[in-house]
Amino acid sequence: MVNKERTAAFQKLVAVAPATIPKLPWPADFEIDEFTPPDFTSLEVLSFASSGIPAGINIPNYDDIRQDLGFKNVSLGNVLSAKAPNEPIPFIHPEDLEVYQENRDAAFEVQVGIHELLGHGTGKLLRETSPGVYNFNHSSPPINPITGKAITTHYKPNETYSSVFGALSSTYEECRAECVAMALSCDFNILKIFGFDTGKRDFDMNSETGDVLYTSYLSMARAGIVAMELWDPKSQKWGQIHMQARYGILKTFLEAGDGFCVLDYKKEDLSDLTIKLDRSKILSHGRPAVEKVLQKLHIYKCIADVESARKFYDELTGVEGRFLGGES
Ligand SMILES: [Zn+2]
Repeated sequence: MVNKERTAAFQKLVAVAPATIPKLPWPADFEIDEFTPPDFTSLEVLSFASSGIPAGINIPNYDDIRQDLGFKNVSLGNVLSAKAPNEPIPFIHPEDLEVYQENRDAAFEVQVGIHELLGHGTGKLLRETSPGVYNFNHSSPPINPITGKAITTHYKPNETYSSVFGALSSTYEECRAECVAMALSCDFNILKIFGFDTGKRDFDMNSETGDVLYTSYLSMARAGIVAMELWDPKSQKWGQIHMQARYGILKTFLEAGDGFCVLDYKKEDLSDLTIKLDRSKILSHGRPAVEKVLQKLHIYKCIADVESARKFYDELTGVEGRFLGGES
């Protein structure tokens, strides 16, 4: 059933997409030539039979089709907000519990909206569409912002993102979309669309809107810890693609520097572990750290550089050190 009120917010997000996409950390050469406004509907689900229930959907899952013909999105509103009454919330510090509980539905809705539309909905695969025909300037190739040099790889005729990236493709793409959500949830104009406005010109982190942003980052960090129940120490493999991605983002937060995000614990078995995240450093440390990772994820995908992508992603989502219960 369509939730008309929430759908209106998502339609507004679609309307600001063309102005928002250029804020992402890559040059126009790596973005779809012309943004085709998609449909974005918020649904309330009456019944859903599946082994895993998504909170939002961007279809189809074929990048070449998304790029050439377009796509559509749905947000599943009552999946987003579903939770058991009095559900315990491990890893959130008691001091943060109130703000977390009050804002997590709103934060999650913003996150899903951005993830689907501006995450999965962005990016251009640089392709040789048929022998000798390219969808980019092949004689003067785009400059790779990571290396500062002209790109040397692209998709060959009949190659798709899935065929080149193989088993890596799904989790890698989810991580890219989640990073877009973390980067753009800092955008005041987007938060405004979802009804959060302090009425001030500058972004006040101690406002109600700041609470939503803080909760977004806190939720992502928490998801990164919870993710590890889906990692198998025996096979050293991840059992869920989104959770692997979120763990990678938690690591990005932890490595953002200046104590931006710290895991606090005294007990050796980590059973008292809580997340300490400095809300005053989300814009100065959190967002730039995420954008650095996002740029790599994005460019490697655009230019079919699966080798660099695999190396980078394996490192980003590798479980080691204190996460194995050993020394920190
Ligand atoms: Zn996704």
